[in-house]
Amino acid sequence: MKSFAMLGINKVGWIEKEKPVAGPYDAIVRPLAVSPCTSDIHTVFEGALGERTDLILGHEAVGEVVEVGKEVKDFKPGDKVVVPAITPDWRTIEVQQGYHMHSGGMLAGWKYSNIKDGVFGEYFHVNDADMNLAHLPDDIPLEAAVMLSDMVTTGFHGAELANIELGDAVAVIGIGPVGLMSVAGAKLLGASRIIGIGSRKALIEAAEYYGATDIVNYRNGPIDEQIMDLTGGKGVDRVIIAGAGSDILKTAVKIVKPGGTISNVNYFGEGDTLPIPRLDWGNGMAHKTIIGGLTPGGRNRMEKLINLVKYNRIDPSRLVTHKFHGFEHIEKALLMMKDKQQDLIKPVVFVE
Ligand code: NDP
Ligand code: ZN
Repeated sequence: MKSFAMLGINKVGWIEKEKPVAGPYDAIVRPLAVSPCTSDIHTVFEGALGERTDLILGHEAVGEVVEVGKEVKDFKPGDKVVVPAITPDWRTIEVQQGYHMHSGGMLAGWKYSNIKDGVFGEYFHVNDADMNLAHLPDDIPLEAAVMLSDMVTTGFHGAELANIELGDAVAVIGIGPVGLMSVAGAKLLGASRIIGIGSRKALIEAAEYYGATDIVNYRNGPIDEQIMDLTGGKGVDRVIIAGAGSDILKTAVKIVKPGGTISNVNYFGEGDTLPIPRLDWGNGMAHKTIIGGLTPGGRNRMEKLINLVKYNRIDPSRLVTHKFHGFEHIEKALLMMKDKQQDLIKPVVFVE
């Protein structure tokens, strides 16, 4: 089958691969709509996961089931499904410990375009279909649904990890598609003031649409100074990091109040260490929590997100700024995620 792959660090291209085979609990799915992720860019162009050869890219998809293993109960060929970016092995000890993202080892719940072929092929494999797929209701458009795989779940996870309490002031550093969903998640969780930090006009307008009360443009001066000005020198209760390089941790530690939380969903692609400024971290005694996480996946998570769309709590289709029809446009869409033109939030490629 035809597929779009990472050939090696800094190299992508079209290759032929064998159609995947379903085990007894698995499914084979044909993509209907896919989207490239900034994480694919870190993986290919920064070599952030190390070398990968002829690995099919992509981990955001909605599709149609074409084949199921004999033990699969809830899905059959023809069903339309949302496929999460994270497809854990549910029979692992890490799942019992509460972290399905790390089933089988750190980050190992993230299989597509990491440790197994991704979704940018004519077909792709889904392990444990009953536990990892979710039925796509007819009234949810494909472009909204494909944002659930990764963008919505990740952005929301940033808000969840930040431990937001009703009335909290929250700063969201980076308002790309992930950060925008953190803004939306912070609003749903009851934040009062939500400060979105970015620079591109399209993102700023979207941040306001999703619930940002204030915007800080990081190109207009140091973020910490701007946040301190906005908050009367107090800082914010929670910080969600969804953009920028690893140095941004310094800023986050500066702008969060003692007792506050910094939640990171960024994929730091470079450097061996991450910086924590000693004095701003209260010499180690400021009760400023720093936590970072891979997004949740699996069926239950996707079903909950589908319901948030169904009951009009969130409309992720506002993230989709560029639409392509035809599988061959995957390459162009991926490179758009690398170049991030002014008006881009997310491209979606409809296979037909
Ligand atoms: P984008 O590149 O689309 O957005 C990044 C945002 O960060 C933009 O708003 C950009 O501003 C802003 N930014 C860039 N540099 C700075 C800076 N120096 N200071 C402040 N803000 C800055 O990324 P995505 O939203 O697609 O993804 C965000 C991150 O999440 C990526 O690292 C991605 O790999 C990761 N990710 C993590 C997942 C997880 O499971 N934890 C899953 C999916 C993605 P501007 O307006 O100028 O463009
Ligand atoms: Zn991703």
